[in-house]
Amino acid sequence: MRSIVVAYAVALGAVAAVVVCRFVFGPLLANTLPLVTLFGAVAVAVWAGGYRSGLVAMAAGLLVCVGICLWPHSPNPPLLGRSSFDLAAYLFISLLIIGFGEHLHRVRRRMADKNREIDLALKRAEESERRFRRLADTAPVMIWASDEDKLATWFNKQWLDFVGRPLEQELGNGWTENLHPEDSDRCLQVYTSAFDARMPFSMEYRLKRHDGEYRWVLKKGIPLYGPHDEFSGYIGSCIDIGDHKRLEQSLRDADRRKDEFLATLSHELRNPLAAIRNSVEVIKRKDHIDGDLRKVGEIIERQLKHVSRLLEDLLDLSRVSHNKLVLRKERVEIGAVVQDAVERSRELIDKNIHDIVMAPSPAALFVDADAVRLSQVLCNLFDNAAKYSEGPSPIEIRWEQQDQEVVVCVKDQGIGIAPEMLDRIFEMFSQSVPARTQSQGGLGIGLSLSRHIVQLHGGSMRAKSDGPAKGSEFIVRLPLASNAIGRRDEAIPADDSPAPGQNRRHRVLVVDDSRDSADSLTMILSASGHEVRAVYDGEAAIQAAGTFAPAIILMDVGMPGVSGIEACRRIRAEQWGKNIHIVALTGWGQTTDRQRTFEAGFNDHLVKPVDPAVLMKVISEFPAPG
Ligand code: ADP
Repeated sequence: MRSIVVAYAVALGAVAAVVVCRFVFGPLLANTLPLVTLFGAVAVAVWAGGYRSGLVAMAAGLLVCVGICLWPHSPNPPLLGRSSFDLAAYLFISLLIIGFGEHLHRVRRRMADKNREIDLALKRAEESERRFRRLADTAPVMIWASDEDKLATWFNKQWLDFVGRPLEQELGNGWTENLHPEDSDRCLQVYTSAFDARMPFSMEYRLKRHDGEYRWVLKKGIPLYGPHDEFSGYIGSCIDIGDHKRLEQSLRDADRRKDEFLATLSHELRNPLAAIRNSVEVIKRKDHIDGDLRKVGEIIERQLKHVSRLLEDLLDLSRVSHNKLVLRKERVEIGAVVQDAVERSRELIDKNIHDIVMAPSPAALFVDADAVRLSQVLCNLFDNAAKYSEGPSPIEIRWEQQDQEVVVCVKDQGIGIAPEMLDRIFEMFSQSVPARTQSQGGLGIGLSLSRHIVQLHGGSMRAKSDGPAKGSEFIVRLPLASNAIGRRDEAIPADDSPAPGQNRRHRVLVVDDSRDSADSLTMILSASGHEVRAVYDGEAAIQAAGTFAPAIILMDVGMPGVSGIEACRRIRAEQWGKNIHIVALTGWGQTTDRQRTFEAGFNDHLVKPVDPAVLMKVISEFPAPG
């Protein structure tokens, strides 16, 4: 409002000034250019206040001219031409001036607005920059920025405090001086290639701290772009992860030690187990033993199997956590695997007086699977169904084809599973009922292992239950093998039949530093008609192999002095040792252990405690002498 009043005042003032000038310079100008000076007043008014003050000046000029013309005794020539043409020309030219002046006035105003906006934006940018730097200097991370030429342009206070150098020394490529010499090339390579590709990057490297210690840091960076999407460099952060790294390493060490411990424990337990197993076998083979002794033998055998299975689970646990579980896949018929697993669980099922109700698929269904591992999975499900149900109650086993999958369901009417535990029971060591409150509790690793094995086969496994005391159902899905349906008689039968040549007699050398194991094994083999000699160290084994000339050597691997590996190598180096069938009998059952024995020249690798039936089969399959 105030500016309009000022503009009108300027318009009237300009007209007044023109009139005064006209009178003052009247004699000089005579009658020439009667209107031109008034145009000047209009132009000044438009410039100062826009078209409205221009119109005011034009109207005021018109009034002044007409007034002077009407004044009859004017000493000066009239300002205005006398004709109405002059009047019209005055109005027309004034309007043109007003139009043009208004345009200029607007342009000027727009420019002024723009300049004001730029000033404001600059102030805001300065403010935001100040805020960012204060924030960056108080943040608990190191922050850096670089320009589009990969040169560092800024580091926050934390960075400078960490390296203990002033900003000037860090700028450009200065920061690279503190990189660990072993990490420098890799770090610069990641940095440069990320820059060239305009990609975010993340890397770990060692950076020298102000006290000279190299610390592991995690550095991240992202590209920066201007308002018009033009690349303008990188900004990023860096944190000290030295403590984290140390913790990670100590966890890895602890994990490795745990694995070593598990492996050693199971090895150490296997030796005495092997001796016990062999001894029981010797007792069993006696023709005349009384009923009580036979019963005791059976109890020991049953418990041995249980402990052996727990040991196997413990070892599998460490294999799974290191992705070392290897499958030996072949085309197997699922019904045969189910039968095999049922037989393995038979004892527990019978003990708890359960009934097995089988609903097989009408056609034989084949899967590409490791039959032993798959049987282990199903056996765990059957054992659980038997363990977690009060007998007598039925355990239903169903298998069928659904789309391209074989689905095996194991359903019981036992203690059931609470809804919140349905998924958790597949976690390692997870038990919905603590083992110590269960007479037949386990380690809580069976389901976790089973699911892992099923997933390795490309399948899935889940549990269903309507809640506690409502029974449970476990559903295993496996991809069908291509050309998966066939006749049942095509299925590979479980090979329990005696091997051909079961009655072959061989000369066998038994080598084990555990005398109990060696002697008990010798007794079993002798009872089966083989000619057996036992020795208790590697050196004696080499000598006996030369003099006794065995067809088969059953040799422990880990022995003090000359190990089984070395003994085997030295026997193989001899001409007479080339054709001996050497079997490793060891507590070490990992894939790497097998590799080691095969490389040393062993023909077979059996893990203690070996089922005597398996051992007999291995020996009897060996061709008869002569
Ligand atoms: P374990 O049986 O050795 O404890 P698993 O991994 O085989 O270990 O099973 C984990 C837990 O899942 C068991 O402790 C039990 O609480 C629950 N569970 C497994 N199977 C059943 C079942 N059929 N009915 C009820 N609970 C079950």
